[in-house]
Amino acid sequence: MPLTDQLIREIDARRDDLIALTQELLRIPTLSPPGENYREICDYLDRRLRAGGFETEFVRAFGSPGDSDKYPRWNVVARREGARSGECVHFNSHIDVVDVGLGWTRDPFGGQLEDGRIYGRGACDMKGGLAASIVAAEAFLAVCPGFSGAIEISGTADEESGGYGGVAYLAGKGYFDPARVQHVIIPEPLNKDRICLGHRGVWWAEVETFGEIAHGSMPFLGDCAVRHMGAVLEEMERSLFPALARKRTEMPVVPEGARQSTLNINSIHGGQSEGEADFTGLPSPCVPDSCRMIIDRRFLLEEDIDEVQSEILQILKDVESKRESFRYDVRELHRVLPTMTDKDAPVVRTVARAIEETIGKEAEYVVSPGTYDQKHIDRIGKLKNCIAYGPGILDLAHKPDEYVGVEDMLDSAKVMGRSLIELLARP
Ligand SMILES: [Zn+2]
Repeated sequence: MPLTDQLIREIDARRDDLIALTQELLRIPTLSPPGENYREICDYLDRRLRAGGFETEFVRAFGSPGDSDKYPRWNVVARREGARSGECVHFNSHIDVVDVGLGWTRDPFGGQLEDGRIYGRGACDMKGGLAASIVAAEAFLAVCPGFSGAIEISGTADEESGGYGGVAYLAGKGYFDPARVQHVIIPEPLNKDRICLGHRGVWWAEVETFGEIAHGSMPFLGDCAVRHMGAVLEEMERSLFPALARKRTEMPVVPEGARQSTLNINSIHGGQSEGEADFTGLPSPCVPDSCRMIIDRRFLLEEDIDEVQSEILQILKDVESKRESFRYDVRELHRVLPTMTDKDAPVVRTVARAIEETIGKEAEYVVSPGTYDQKHIDRIGKLKNCIAYGPGILDLAHKPDEYVGVEDMLDSAKVMGRSLIELLARP
């Protein structure tokens, strides 16, 4: 029987195991923030993967944001060497899940199975993908014990809050060095027939306008920072938002609305701070002397980060030229450059063929509107041959009653297993 047929049979035979594995991962509540139970889930993965012949390593990201003795940032990296030298395929999944939120009709940490769906926080984002990659690797090892190269599976912390205690830390320690790892698949929930090549860039900044405090009954004796910020907003509406809408990208970003530059005004705050919820008094009459706005600018491969920054500075200069006593400051909070793996990269071509053979349709190529851990593998690890591919529907991520479909997990495990055959079973 051909190797791929044996693999498909092995994966189908592991259906109950795949369900149980997903349920058990969901029952370990790895909420972040604050970063709970990272060690527990790493211990669980360690037991599972060592039983499958992997060697494992625990890596704590000492000193990374959020790391403390109460909430240590633990990661686990498992590696199984083949019989001969060859390339290494690495499956990377984040182990953290976001806050549960309201509106659940199922236990978010129960792992309930109903009508072919497993429910729970992190079911699609991305414990279902982690489980599928483990079962894919185990089935591959069962049919191809004499493979060439190596397989790695990692469970990493804090992706939802920037990945600094997870993939960024590991990349800094050389775990994604192209001399050690050649292909990376991140099983994020992008749908089983889509390959995610990368993501747009991010620039977060805080803009502050300044005024002068005075009695609110005589505002002419002061200078209102909120009115200055209003002028900034007006200028943004007039010139910036239309300009951003005109910047289209060749990146296949989904959904369609994100195939351009975007800017979100995350927050604005001016004047006195709001009182505590139980404060029943009135505010005092003061002219605001400061107003702060946080902006979240998402940019394209075709744009340069310096351009993105100077756009904002230009708006402020324009306002400055029209308003007396206009003073401002801009502080960068966070930046991530866009990344996109070439469609001809080996891991892309391999997974695309595996999707076609498994699902019977051509793979769709997409780019994510927001970022994920690929940024660190690219920038810090210097490894370009990386994609996101995994089961689950992206729109369900972070929502109440999040679930992952069992059939989708099985199909994507088959795609991952076939990819292993193509990359590692060559004589
Ligand atoms: Zn995710």
